[in-house]
Amino acid sequence: MKSHKFTIITLGIILLAVLPTFNSCSNKAKQIENKPKYIFLFIGDGMGLNHVNITQAYLQSINGEIGYQDLTMTKFPMSGTCSTYSKNRLITDSGAAGSAIACGEKANTGEISFYDDIDKGETTPISIAKIAHNNGCKVGIITTVSINHATPAAFYAINKSRSNYYDIGLQLPESGFEFFAGGGLKYPKDRNNDKENLYDICIDAGYNYIKDITEIPKFKKSNDKVLFESPVLWSDAEMPYEIDRTEHDGYSLSQIVNAGIDFLDNENGFFIMVEGGKIDWAAHENDAATIINEVIAFDNAILEAYNFYLEHPDETLIIVTSDHETGGMSLGLGQNGYKSDFSLLANQKMSSYQFSTIIKNYKTSNSTYKLSEVINLANAHLFIDDLSLTEYEMEQVKNAYRYYFFNETNLNTIQLNNLYDNYNPVATTFIRILQNRASVGFTSWTHTAASVPIYSIGSGAEKFSGNIDNTDISKRILDITNW
Ligand SMILES: [Zn+2]
Repeated sequence: MKSHKFTIITLGIILLAVLPTFNSCSNKAKQIENKPKYIFLFIGDGMGLNHVNITQAYLQSINGEIGYQDLTMTKFPMSGTCSTYSKNRLITDSGAAGSAIACGEKANTGEISFYDDIDKGETTPISIAKIAHNNGCKVGIITTVSINHATPAAFYAINKSRSNYYDIGLQLPESGFEFFAGGGLKYPKDRNNDKENLYDICIDAGYNYIKDITEIPKFKKSNDKVLFESPVLWSDAEMPYEIDRTEHDGYSLSQIVNAGIDFLDNENGFFIMVEGGKIDWAAHENDAATIINEVIAFDNAILEAYNFYLEHPDETLIIVTSDHETGGMSLGLGQNGYKSDFSLLANQKMSSYQFSTIIKNYKTSNSTYKLSEVINLANAHLFIDDLSLTEYEMEQVKNAYRYYFFNETNLNTIQLNNLYDNYNPVATTFIRILQNRASVGFTSWTHTAASVPIYSIGSGAEKFSGNIDNTDISKRILDITNW
């Protein structure tokens, strides 16, 4: 085996000496053995190890078994952990973490691949997606949230603040990346609705702006570019939660990734970043069933990449990781000791976010509010089977009901914040009751500093095992591609 490798390397060196240098993915890939030509980088936003573990344990539990059911990502042969801290804060955000993953350099919280303050006498770091593009790869950026949101933005834009959605959006067509897909553009005419529409700018720059996934193959010509947007978007230009999505609500992330692979597949190779952006949003809301559904949808999208890998095992690298943990999620709860039953979460049929809308509508369309009606709403919309509240649980619902509908409470601001943060108190309470029964807990409404998992398979995957830092990811991609 060793002499075989030596022969290939020697042959490669001889060939290199006689061939002209090509600045493309494929030709460079031939220079060194074991170089990936097709690279997938999956980022589960907010996806800590416990978000993965609860999904595994949940899937096992609904089969009446104890243990962890394998996901596509957990079956990958290489795994490890990834530290996530930002340049100026231990608990990072998606801007800083996305920048660190994309550019291999720590950024400040809230920044998008912004390194103007770097003074090392070195070249300012740029994103691995731009480097891939400069080396002849086609590039795809796919997300379930808006395409000018922090994580996708870190791969094509540079900005001091992740909140500058319009300025970030302007950089999307400038990137020239071939495929953007998933959510839409947030604030397409800026916050005051007074700037040129970003969609028009993208179309003028040559992007085919489409919402029908079946049209994507039509544009698979060498210079065609696609901006594909889910036909159903929610208020922040994001795709619906998977738990809420019906067959009329657009496409799954896996369908979009599948279409993206077909569109981007070419002999020069590709780099595709896929973000499961709403794992984080569900975790901010401390909504375990919605997290599980988002992780399953994310894993199904990874399966699409894995199927591609099976066709090109020597030329494909798949890396799956996260930008940070969200929610401080625990699999087990003090009040239940060693008892848990995650299968109870199967009783939840919509997200806390969607149920909040139902409760808000009930409040605005009525002048009197009855506790029994509020409980009936939960049993009709949120749960498959009625909850049959215990006395203790009924007390929790009454407190949330009194606070939300009548602004009556005995709690101080800190206690209220701990209980509900800025989320709907009634929806939050019903969700928590179910989760408490299942033994799922959350310690935070924000991100935490916990390390996140990293899984990989394929050409060069061994570089991403062990305990690494988020800045190592793009550095190691550079190492193995020699870009
Ligand atoms: Zn977040």
